[in-house]
Amino acid sequence: MSQKKVLITGAAGFLGSHLCDKFINENYYVIGMDNLITGDLRNIEHLFGKQNFVFYHHDVSKFVHVPDKLDYILHFASPASPIDYLKIPIQTLKVGSLGTHNLLGLAKSKNSRILVASTSEVYGDPLVHPQSEEYWGNVNPVGPRGVYDEAKRFQEAITMAYHTYHKLETRIVRIFNTYGPRMRLNDGRVLPAFIGQALRGEDLTAFGDGSQTRSFCYVDDLIDGIYRLLMSDYVYPVNIGNPDEITINDFAKEILKLTGSNKKVIYKPLPTDDPKQRQPDISLAKKILGWQPKISRENGLKITYNYFKNLPKERWEEDPYGRNFKK
Ligand code: UDP
Repeated sequence: MSQKKVLITGAAGFLGSHLCDKFINENYYVIGMDNLITGDLRNIEHLFGKQNFVFYHHDVSKFVHVPDKLDYILHFASPASPIDYLKIPIQTLKVGSLGTHNLLGLAKSKNSRILVASTSEVYGDPLVHPQSEEYWGNVNPVGPRGVYDEAKRFQEAITMAYHTYHKLETRIVRIFNTYGPRMRLNDGRVLPAFIGQALRGEDLTAFGDGSQTRSFCYVDDLIDGIYRLLMSDYVYPVNIGNPDEITINDFAKEILKLTGSNKKVIYKPLPTDDPKQRQPDISLAKKILGWQPKISRENGLKITYNYFKNLPKERWEEDPYGRNFKK
């Protein structure tokens, strides 16, 4: 049997790079694609020497061509932090809409199965708790997060339409807050923000009064859930995340303890439309994929902290686009 081939978009990003590793380990031929606006080649440079890996520097919002056969497509290209939505809102909209359309077209022409990365942001600032897949969400289309939330909602709609109309094999994963090595340290998201601040000896910035909640999933658990979903025959959206919910205040305390920092938590204004609470209902994933997270926040945070601590110190001072913000 010939080697299976997979296209991973957003390959140089946090999740994309972990997916590349997973599929290389499973002995696939991996085509990684990224336009490198928010991706970072350092996340995948260990793969460049491999026989079964190739990288295309390409923007999937433009026509995508891949030679020969393609068994699977995983569409993970997208800016994914509130800082990015403000800085590159049009690209965020385009990659979720035009990019998804191009990849669905590619999947149709190659007869590939495609999995698209959706998000808990489709639930907006949820009025139902925890969020199950049946909940339709509470999204502000014209707020700062609208460019991401609505692109992802459109992505789900067009993916279902290709499934229904063209009989394409499609999968949709709704990803909740995920963390681990290879996040961008200062991209504004709470975990790399807190760890970066602790490493630089700064106070930790909680937004609002810090009473909002999130539920953090370690990246290896997430990748396992995504792999199982891809291999399953379930076409509707599936939540993948860790239901262990915590307030941002308590999370800050955990980071101070973990890093041995003697700094304090300071408070900054809450960003517009910042969801007040978020926790995945993962009953569906448990039932159809036999999946649930295995890695506790305590263990996951230790691994993640060690990764960041061992980076060259100048990287602690990089902005989300790889520039030193202290120079
Ligand atoms: N947050 C915070 N301090 C920071 C960065 C983020 O208190 O330095 C808060 C943010 O307001 C939100 C939560 O942490 O309530 C998670 O933010 P993140 O951007 O990581 O993810 P998202 O809001 O998309 O879940």
